[in-house]
Amino acid sequence: MIGFGLKGFLRRLVPREKGWDDPKIAGRDERIFVENKKSCPACHKGLDEGELERTLYVCPNCNHHFRITPWERIRFTVDGGVFQEIATKLESVNPLNFPDYDNKLAEVREKTGMSEAVITGRCKIENREVIMAVMAYNFMGGSMGSVVGEKITRAILEGARQELPVIIFTASGGARMQEGIFSLMQMAKTSNAIALLEEKGVPLFTVLTDPTSGGVTASFAMLGDVILAEPEAFIGFAGPRVIEGTIRQKLPEGFQRSEFLLQKGFVDLVVERKDIRRMLTFLIDTHRPSSRGF
Ligand SMILES: [Zn+2]
Repeated sequence: MIGFGLKGFLRRLVPREKGWDDPKIAGRDERIFVENKKSCPACHKGLDEGELERTLYVCPNCNHHFRITPWERIRFTVDGGVFQEIATKLESVNPLNFPDYDNKLAEVREKTGMSEAVITGRCKIENREVIMAVMAYNFMGGSMGSVVGEKITRAILEGARQELPVIIFTASGGARMQEGIFSLMQMAKTSNAIALLEEKGVPLFTVLTDPTSGGVTASFAMLGDVILAEPEAFIGFAGPRVIEGTIRQKLPEGFQRSEFLLQKGFVDLVVERKDIRRMLTFLIDTHRPSSRGF
């Protein structure tokens, strides 16, 4: 702590909600780009929104995977898009009286139609029952406050109780800085719940989507029994500029992308969006809770 004090330390530890140092990621709204320019923001080839709907929001030319909302994710992944939400009544408060946090929450709720940055519930994939949590990057950068942590924890515990596989789609800029230490505590809480899941022999599958970072990477995202990632998703803890500034070295090409993490063993498989449903089905079948002990 010497040198920059506790405040400075916390600032370093808690990535800002829009904590993307990478200008290519910061504030990019790809859908608006397609709408305005009628082209793909990655390869700049002609593209219209209708076409994207049909390809699950993947560019047919360069395979760029667009960020999607949790409800789109659910529609693309679960049987009939049928999703029975749990813990819907939980809403964030402002435990530290952080200036303007209440207003910001109200505004984002209004804009997204969601109460928090994660949707959790029960659903079926190819007729196999699962508990699923889907994070929303469009809700305050998918930042993990106490409610996000609690909802994820409850989803995991529900999986443990009912012996149903748990699937978590991550998308997060990290901790919710407006909740300070309460936000950081969620890392320990979710990890603890996963330990219980493990004790019960119930599998957890995580699917890391663009972007997954900060406290989410440092906890449940990396604790899946099998960790999948979408192609070229940004996955890391701190942003690349912070790292470069700290170690004073140039980072290698493709650093903090799915494929790089696969190569280094942090990710088990990079799976295209169109194949995720099939892959999850395979994983559920090969990791049944009853197969414990084999
Ligand atoms: Zn493209």
